[in-house]
Amino acid sequence: MTNPLLAEWDTPFGLPPFDRISDDDFGSAFETARIEHLAEVAAIAENPEPATFENTIVALEGAGRALDRVLTVFFSLAGADSNPARQALQRDFAPKLAAHGAAITGNRDLFERIEALWQDRGALDLAAEEARLLELTHRSFVRAGAALTGAQADRMTEIKSRLSVLGTQFTQNLLADESGWQMELSEGDLEGLPETVRASARAAGAERGADGPVITLSRSLIVPFLQFSTRRDLRETAWRAWTSRGAMGGETDNRAIAAEVLKLREERAKLLGYDTFAAYKLEPEMAKSPEAVRELLTSVWQPARARALEDQEKLQALMADDGVNGTLAPWDWRHYAERRRRAEFDIDDTALKPYLQLERMIEAAMDCANRLFGLEFREVDVPLYHADVRAWEVTRDGAHVAVFVGDYFARASKRSGAWCSALRSQSKRPEARTAVPVNVCNFAKPAAGEPALLSYDDARTLFHEFGHALHHMLSDVEFGSISGTSVARDFVELPSQLFEHWLDEPEVLRRFATHVETGEPMPQDMLDRMKGAALANQGFETVEYLASALVDLEFHAGPAPADPMDRQAEVLEELGMPEAIVMRHATPHFAHVFAGDGYSSGYYSYMWSEVMDADAFAAFEEKGDAFDGDTARALEERILSRGGSAEPDTLYVDFRGRMPGVEALLRGRGLAA
Ligand SMILES: [Zn+2]
Repeated sequence: MTNPLLAEWDTPFGLPPFDRISDDDFGSAFETARIEHLAEVAAIAENPEPATFENTIVALEGAGRALDRVLTVFFSLAGADSNPARQALQRDFAPKLAAHGAAITGNRDLFERIEALWQDRGALDLAAEEARLLELTHRSFVRAGAALTGAQADRMTEIKSRLSVLGTQFTQNLLADESGWQMELSEGDLEGLPETVRASARAAGAERGADGPVITLSRSLIVPFLQFSTRRDLRETAWRAWTSRGAMGGETDNRAIAAEVLKLREERAKLLGYDTFAAYKLEPEMAKSPEAVRELLTSVWQPARARALEDQEKLQALMADDGVNGTLAPWDWRHYAERRRRAEFDIDDTALKPYLQLERMIEAAMDCANRLFGLEFREVDVPLYHADVRAWEVTRDGAHVAVFVGDYFARASKRSGAWCSALRSQSKRPEARTAVPVNVCNFAKPAAGEPALLSYDDARTLFHEFGHALHHMLSDVEFGSISGTSVARDFVELPSQLFEHWLDEPEVLRRFATHVETGEPMPQDMLDRMKGAALANQGFETVEYLASALVDLEFHAGPAPADPMDRQAEVLEELGMPEAIVMRHATPHFAHVFAGDGYSSGYYSYMWSEVMDADAFAAFEEKGDAFDGDTARALEERILSRGGSAEPDTLYVDFRGRMPGVEALLRGRGLAA
């Protein structure tokens, strides 16, 4: 019998035949598809004809189709519905995939063909999107080190492999520190904690074989503990342990690793001809240069710091009212900020939830997509990978656009968080395909027959991931590798964060945030308090984030520091970091930056995207209509349909007529003067 992963998929909409695939199929399908891809690449590299755009760049784009299908299905399942067999496959595939990628970028004959086309690009008469694909293909080979030869090429290989060892070690040390620490409490020590946090502490205790409740260093337990515990001494103990992760001395200490990583990254950038690692890393991003990142971050820093210092005084006063002597310390901030939030906004999450039904929020997101872009959604019954997963056919004016897949409920087999992936990306060449985006969330599943209710954060997450899905659905480009969300890292959150704004539109909430029993819309007063509470601690949140982003940037924008901890202290000193706030992630546990390469000199990108989403939504606000048809059309034509087919700043300026400024972001965070 043929392996269903490798056969033609004669299924509705060409979706993967999930009902026919078993875990035993992946290993052999991966091996067959991997070898097939290498053979296809070899045929392109060894083609006796001179290189043309078609026989090299388009051919590469079309190569590895089978591998792509196998891996897309596999990683969907590994993330959203894992099991021991799938975990074992994942461990088996990881090094093989790294070697596979290296074999392709290291193929000398192939790179020579790409280089020849690149040198000759002016004479090739390419359409704009073809030129873009050539540029990106060439750039990714060069950045991987394909142009290096001899000792330099060898050194590059050494550096990459050492960096990957260090990244894994950094992560494992962090995990060891996190699982190695716990604070055992008596029931009497739980003073101030809400029942849900007490239950989590008891569950953590049971899991670790302790006699009573424990506080661990997991963010989801320690943050609520710091918010609610009235025991200042215990808060201090917990906070000190939490902020010392990776810097506890001994074998799991990450400080020497951080220093070595920064040194190797600098060497790697220099081998490739860049002055600094940040210059190398930021080149393909929208920001392009360390200077542009620094300018953005520092322009938000001053108003955020000013707000934080004002808040500090208010919290200090609350602490004095409690009869506590002394200065507000970092382990006090979350506690008094929570007290202030409750006092000022009287927010009760349990009163809010009945208004936010999952089913109605899905309808709301789809209704917004309909009003903005004319998309229509019809739920369809097709084989998927779990009984909770649903699919909708997306059409416009009766024509098929995409299939949207929603996988909303938490389960033990799903990793935490929320994300948008795709079972298929849109393309026209060498094969015409429509997109199949998948939204995966971790909302609590209700008892059978009960409606699922969301928190306000959950509802935002739903809109956020739906925004990514729209980027896939509305994509209208030639080539799959630059379609949908295949854009610069500091641009990819624009469509998702932008779409969150529609959740806050009063007319959307009035229509869709209706009480599960009475059907009444959410009262205006509750809405206002909910939004006010969301802004209550923005000074603190912006400061702790920016401090991390600026330290990350300065680590990589100059010579590698001999002692990263000294450099970190220096940067914070220059910033005038408020004493009662620390970095969101200090160097020894800054996994975004040191566990791998993903967010190194890239932690800024969350805020970069936020600058754009706030400014882009202002385009609708300026029209006085969140559903203004012309603006929606421009958003689709100039940004959402274009994927990575042009530089992100070109796309943005096409849409807005200028680059974004920080004003809308400061207003959005409540930090404007
Ligand atoms: Zn996102």
